[in-house]
Amino acid sequence: RQELYRELRSRPSVSRDGVEVELMMNAGLAVDLPQLGEAGAAGIGLFRTELQFMVASTFPRAQAQEALYRQVLEAAGDKPVTFRTIDIGGDKVLPYFRGSEKEENPALGWRAIRLTLDRPALLRTQFRALLKAAGGRELRVMLPMVTEVSEIRRAREIIDREVRHLARFGHHLPTSLSIGAMVEVPSLLFQLDELMREVDFVSIGSNDLFQFMTATDRGNGTVASRFDPLSAPFLRALKSVLDAGCRAGTPVTLCGELASRPISAMALIGLGFRSISMSAAAIGPVKAMLVDLPVEALTAQMGLILGDGGGAHDARGLLRTFAADH
Ligand code: PEP
Ligand code: MG
Repeated sequence: RQELYRELRSRPSVSRDGVEVELMMNAGLAVDLPQLGEAGAAGIGLFRTELQFMVASTFPRAQAQEALYRQVLEAAGDKPVTFRTIDIGGDKVLPYFRGSEKEENPALGWRAIRLTLDRPALLRTQFRALLKAAGGRELRVMLPMVTEVSEIRRAREIIDREVRHLARFGHHLPTSLSIGAMVEVPSLLFQLDELMREVDFVSIGSNDLFQFMTATDRGNGTVASRFDPLSAPFLRALKSVLDAGCRAGTPVTLCGELASRPISAMALIGLGFRSISMSAAAIGPVKAMLVDLPVEALTAQMGLILGDGGGAHDARGLLRTFAADH
């Protein structure tokens, strides 16, 4: 298998019937970077910046943040990188940060964009570090746990102010700045058109979106495997995001664990995803699936899998049958 994955590395990321699908990797620390080349990833679809904060014993200084972002961009070369602003809070507690005290429901609590909009100095410092590190190249920044569109506007005001500040002091700025939002809180599913107008791209965080849609704690083994993301309700939700992106001309990608398993990656491609981001170790297996996949035939089957007929059925079972037949 490892031999096959190595051999696939240099092959284009294209299905049996010629459909190109971008396979990106998730990362979070400098030690992940060599995997970009080793796995043959098209880029970093999710860089979890909070990991630097989690392994530190105090808040990483602006210079340390900038140095890491620079290192990531240098390692990526021409490949795109999407940096997610710190997603702390929830299960990602920083022992040195007072104010993130114990909460009864941390997953629903003061975390991610909620926390950083309340402590804008954190966001400002991070934006400045990102803007400086990406001088002369593209910068893509993504906001976690967005619940309503106004949060994106507020974050955008903060980054725009940093851009003006750096420009005034003659800093070398990024050649372009794209701001995206993660779709991981179900409320966004009901404001998709407004969302798409507000951002340059969206990325679905399927781990949290599934947790919140099904009201099952993603870290609780007793319930976490009770419901299946490869089921019509969840797949329909993903499809509605893709459709809204299509209407607005806003790119939609997915960066949760769902992209890391060949069978679910197959379902995503059948729904219409053409860029997905996964753990580096998944790229080989997912690419092995992709090069054998007849996308057109799968797309034709998707109506049945999504349950357009209205009958009760087993989406995973239908996907498995499709995979076995092809
Ligand atoms: C997700 O929720 O799917 C996601 C990619 O973010 P994280 O796993 O870091 O919460
Ligand atoms: Mg998440």
